Amino acid sequence: MKNYIPRRFFSAALAVILLMSSVISLSGCGKKNEEYRDFNFFAMDTYITLRLAVKGSDGSVLSDDYLSSVANECADILSDIEGTLSAHSEKSDVYALNSGVDVMITADDTLVSLLETADKIRELTGGAYDYTLGAVTELWDPKTAVVPSKADVLAALEHTGSDKLMIINRTIRKLDSKTKIDFGGIGKGIAAQSLLEYLSTTDVEYGLVSLGGNIGVFGEKPEYGNYKIGIRDPDNAGGVIGYMYLNSGFISVSGDYERYFEVDGVRYHHIIDPVTGYPADSGVRSVAVHALNGASADALSTALFVLGVEKSLELYEEGNLKFEAVFVTDEGEIITTPGITEEMFEPVGKND
Ligand code: ADP
Ligand code: MG
Repeated sequence: MKNYIPRRFFSAALAVILLMSSVISLSGCGKKNEEYRDFNFFAMDTYITLRLAVKGSDGSVLSDDYLSSVANECADILSDIEGTLSAHSEKSDVYALNSGVDVMITADDTLVSLLETADKIRELTGGAYDYTLGAVTELWDPKTAVVPSKADVLAALEHTGSDKLMIINRTIRKLDSKTKIDFGGIGKGIAAQSLLEYLSTTDVEYGLVSLGGNIGVFGEKPEYGNYKIGIRDPDNAGGVIGYMYLNSGFISVSGDYERYFEVDGVRYHHIIDPVTGYPADSGVRSVAVHALNGASADALSTALFVLGVEKSLELYEEGNLKFEAVFVTDEGEIITTPGITEEMFEPVGKND
């Protein structure tokens, strides 16, 4: 692990910095290197990187044409997911649900299974992750950058809660005309997972996907061991507080530096406490979650940020959701769940 020469890849919107093998720097789309190809694009309101090994499952060298066709298929998968989940695309089921008054829709399988997953995580996190928070989250839109009145926040909170939706088989009915779904805290994790499911059926031996602060890996990276992922310093866009090593599954990061606006010196970020309707103030600046399932990693990073360290550790001990996490607190302290070993996380400075 120690023979990596850190070569950093980050884009402004990324919470996570990827560090890969020492011999190859990250290249732009179409640029060549010996071990893999990177494909970078923008979808689902975020920067996406696919890193595909040139090596095929049978040891052969894969052609650029083949790798490009795999990347194109990934782009199609993302566009399908976006078409279902986006709260902004007028063609999506979620848009139809959110904008209608007394809506009843027949949802496609993707949406039904996503709602089931989201609801399970909502329940297991005691509502800290809540996909029905749309009426509240839209009040805190960093693009509008206006602090809503307390009355508006409390009024919007009345329209949240899973009891506002009735789901029978594939029919979804909205029981409260003002309830809105917001999959912002789970969509990229779902997408990362769908991409990996597809990629594992291709001839590509190993690789990774990165969507915003969500990273997933597939296959085994033979010579260089684990993937090394830098966890951003909340106070310093170019710095890291440490590195996580990923062999399998997903890492998602939520932080208060990700999407926010400031009014009169107060920072209003985009992760909302479903109890208060205000940006969560749990003593956590960021949390990186490792889980074997992409949706869980993503939704949990949001939930643990809301819960704070103590309650997150209680959730961990309950054991209904399998995850590991690295927290950075308001004081800059790094706290890890008991299952985070030295092989999984290396704070900066420790062995430098
Ligand atoms: P990012 O989208 O920046 O990767 P997260 O994964 O933490 O960060 O998701 C934050 C998004 O999730 C918000 O922009 C909002 O759309 C939605 N959200 C905010 N608070 C909650 C919450 N408590 N539960 C579920 N979704 C939330
Ligand atoms: Mg998340």
